[in-house]
Amino acid sequence: MLSLDDHPSGRHFLQIPGPTNVPDRILRALDHPTIDHRGPEFARLTLEILDGLKKIFQTDGPVVIYPASGTGAWEAALANTLSPGDRVLMFETGHFATLWRKMAARFALEVDFVPGDWRSGVDPPAVQAKLAEDKSHVIKAVMVVHNETSTGVTSCIPPIREAIDRTKHPALFMVDTISSLASMDYRHREWKVDVTVAGSQKGLMLPPGLSFNAVSEKALAASKSARLPRSYFSWDEIIASNREGYFPYTPSTNLLYGLHESIAMLLEEGLANVFARHARHGEATRRAVRTWELELLCSNPAEYSNSLTAIRLPDGHDADRFRRIVLERFDMSLGTGLGKLAGKLFRIGHLGSPASRWASPSRACRIARAEFRRRWSIWRRDQLPRAKRSARAFRRKPAAALHNRSQRPIFTGIPPARCGSDSSPA
Ligand code: PLP
Repeated sequence: MLSLDDHPSGRHFLQIPGPTNVPDRILRALDHPTIDHRGPEFARLTLEILDGLKKIFQTDGPVVIYPASGTGAWEAALANTLSPGDRVLMFETGHFATLWRKMAARFALEVDFVPGDWRSGVDPPAVQAKLAEDKSHVIKAVMVVHNETSTGVTSCIPPIREAIDRTKHPALFMVDTISSLASMDYRHREWKVDVTVAGSQKGLMLPPGLSFNAVSEKALAASKSARLPRSYFSWDEIIASNREGYFPYTPSTNLLYGLHESIAMLLEEGLANVFARHARHGEATRRAVRTWELELLCSNPAEYSNSLTAIRLPDGHDADRFRRIVLERFDMSLGTGLGKLAGKLFRIGHLGSPASRWASPSRACRIARAEFRRRWSIWRRDQLPRAKRSARAFRRKPAAALHNRSQRPIFTGIPPARCGSDSSPA
């Protein structure tokens, strides 16, 4: 008899906090044919994406896209704004803050790393005290991880901004939103963040492989005098090429198709609804955990993450063994404990593409209607002039027009998410 453990049937449940489930609509967008990245169609795609990204980051400044995972965007944030020997202020909120600090040290930056317990977020009074002490403005940047993916703790950004402002300190403010963007409210411009770091594989519902820097005027000015070595990650050439809709290197064309679709999905749903949905899923998960009588890692309810929940197992229980059993029995992947939390906890990701969206008939109808309208307008723009020409040709020479039609269909069908084999001729 076949073992269930080795041959699970049905859908795999990817409940790790990123990469998240890629919805079918994005998968269909990804499998369009790759086009010329120096052609006019590509330029249109890029300009639409850059415009949409501003809405997602809530900024009016540039958003730089990298064909790299989130770590690449971390590096870009440092390399574009700082010089060797610069002092930066960072906070030990968990594994990812620790990794970003390690990277800063490798770039010969001097890191003032405020210790933390991995159960709570950045303390704004601590930020204020550190900056107030720094009378000669040696600190060049304050760097914070908005949502610590290793702990399920969200640091509140506006009070940190206020703490910086109260000291009138000129340090740049950099925020890692890799597991919060497009899941929790985040406002690059209003919160006066100078560099926002983000990645594709979480709230944006894309596969891994793209990452982002949203950049303020102040950060752009800092980049003019920053002396850390940079080439591929340099903002200036990318921003200059982006103005025309291009990149200074070969971009990830198909991931950009996916990003275009992801932005459309998020804006159709409305960012406020996206954030409310994540809040609902976060609260539902926490209530379930309490019912199981297990302990949340996050010690402060005001800092509970809405994109993931980290759950401690009682002493003497191996969290990785538990995860293995869940995978074998239920075909569900849960997040592992990272760094010093290895084996002690598991994490449930509840960010990104929602199954529940389709469970709500009214919302599904709204989305279907928006999608139909979008496709109809694309068809009118791209196909209608050609269809009219063919109709005129048919009136003049019916036999020749029919012959032409069988060679080259004039109407590729309304659903353009996949052009080609499944399209139906008129
Ligand atoms: N920062 C945070 C908060 C993360 O969650 C991650 C990855 O999960 C990273 C940085 C590193 O990003 P990547 O693994 O995409 O390079």
